[in-house]
Amino acid sequence: MLAQRTNLFGSSGTAAARAAAKAAADAGKEIIDLTAGEIWSDLAPTIREGAIEAINRGVNRYTDTVGMMELREALARKVSLDTGQIWKAEEIAVTSGAKQALFNAAMVLLNPGDEVIIPAPYWTTFPAQVLIAGGTPVFVDTRSNGYVPRFEDIKAAVTDRTRAIVINTPNNPTGAVYDVQTLIGIAELAINRNFWIVFDECYGDFVHGDHRHHLIVSVVRARTLIVNAFSKSLALTGWRIGYLAGPKEVINAVKALQSHTTSNPNVIAQHAVLAHLQGGDGTYESKLRSQLASARQVGLNALSSLTRVPVPKAQGGFYFYLDLSDLLKPASMNGAAVTADEVVNSLLSEAGVAAVSGTVFGDPAGLRLSYGIPPEKLEAGLSRLVDVLNAWE
Ligand code: PLP
Repeated sequence: MLAQRTNLFGSSGTAAARAAAKAAADAGKEIIDLTAGEIWSDLAPTIREGAIEAINRGVNRYTDTVGMMELREALARKVSLDTGQIWKAEEIAVTSGAKQALFNAAMVLLNPGDEVIIPAPYWTTFPAQVLIAGGTPVFVDTRSNGYVPRFEDIKAAVTDRTRAIVINTPNNPTGAVYDVQTLIGIAELAINRNFWIVFDECYGDFVHGDHRHHLIVSVVRARTLIVNAFSKSLALTGWRIGYLAGPKEVINAVKALQSHTTSNPNVIAQHAVLAHLQGGDGTYESKLRSQLASARQVGLNALSSLTRVPVPKAQGGFYFYLDLSDLLKPASMNGAAVTADEVVNSLLSEAGVAAVSGTVFGDPAGLRLSYGIPPEKLEAGLSRLVDVLNAWE
């Protein structure tokens, strides 16, 4: 009945985890939901005012397919500031969230059978989109190296069919922030072996401790596509504004593709983001960053009581990523492997805590917990989780 293509993907595993939490809550259970890929926060005033102002002016028409020229210009200024290079509006496409920027990139870059290297654990949409676009995901396991890929491992994964690598730093789900040496190594490899770097920096605003977010584009611009959005940095997931920055030829192809799929991203949301880029003074972003920094601290304090699972590093983003290998191994020896799925089920049924199993990220021993929620809920949820994990049999 359906196209063969539908066998290539299921619905997003993180969305399924969110749905399970909601179903339990709808059934009357008190649930603390640590599955969210978004931040609990008010709207930025500039966003609110920009949207209201556009509505009051009666804005209602299509814009240019890849965004209003004024917005593309403002984004070009932002990318120029971020990278220390000069970027032009024609090198920017505004998309309906980072997800569409990534999808567009996959669709315009990949031929059937082209390989795309994806460090694992990975955000679940990366391989799904590669498959939909006819490509083949090639995973590089990062688990034994603090979730940062080793240069040798990436080098070994490159073949004549390698067309791209997806780099996501700070990383979802692991929270790892890639060091500059690793990024330079990947950039040089991309130049020598002639493949693209799809650089997803959606969590670039959230780096913690001594870590720094490094931009690979400073090394290898001609081979890089920057993917970013306001979904995380302005807590604006539902508004759907993201962008792709890269060589003009790629942006033109994306424009043609988008003209046959979604056309322009929502016009009111475009005006709101433009108003923010023009009038925002960084106060809102700082507030969000310090909210997350303190939530991270609250969470790390709670997790420090874990006795059988290492406390996560949580270098960037807003996720704690637990490695449950030592916890699960003894149980797995007596029969079928026990995975984080079972831990997730127990957490939901015994403790009313919803989390995302690493199986959806290609890591059956991982557990992702979001700390973008109110601190009192976070503390209560993690304390229940610690009890379950410490008593795990
Ligand atoms: N890239 C990464 C690594 C993400 O984690 C997400 C969302 O969770 C996205 C892209 C998609 O963001 P958007 O909501 O802007 O489409």
